[in-house]
Amino acid sequence: MIIKDAEFGEVLVRKNALSRGVRFSISTSGRLQMSVPKYTSDFLAKRFLNTNRKMIREKLPIKNPKEQKARDYQKKLLMKKAREYLPYRLEYYAKLYGYSYSKCRLSHANTRWGSCSSNKTISLNIGLMKVPEVLRDYVILHELAHLNHMDHSKAFWAEVGLHDKNYKNHEKKLKNFNPGL
Ligand SMILES: [Zn+2]
Repeated sequence: MIIKDAEFGEVLVRKNALSRGVRFSISTSGRLQMSVPKYTSDFLAKRFLNTNRKMIREKLPIKNPKEQKARDYQKKLLMKKAREYLPYRLEYYAKLYGYSYSKCRLSHANTRWGSCSSNKTISLNIGLMKVPEVLRDYVILHELAHLNHMDHSKAFWAEVGLHDKNYKNHEKKLKNFNPGL
């Protein structure tokens, strides 16, 4: 559900079976996002929003609601760029180093640059299109190494190091970037 709020613009309401309370966060498109328990009524969701208004104003970096449409457009462009690049770059490195994955998925999560699931699906964040190529490649090599090691063990890092000798430095530099818009 979306609440159209005079102050915050479009607020995304996510009804989540697992959430027990209300949680506020910022979506990758800069919108306010609230996650509420599954059976929360729209009326109650609006009330949660109103009672937390002051806290939200003070604590959450909501981007200018007037520019939400512009950011949606930016995200579309980023997705287009990502679609034309990331799956091919992943395929290139997989072939080069002899990895096999089942699927490449593009995501736009807030905190993760990539992930690798146990069914060998690799997710890459479209925000990678905004970071330098060497860091983008590092994330791809990191996720490929997860195909053999589903953890961050010594063996995992040793494998990342085989294909990216500067991985420590790249991991650190990546922290200066944010996947959102
Ligand atoms: Zn990892």
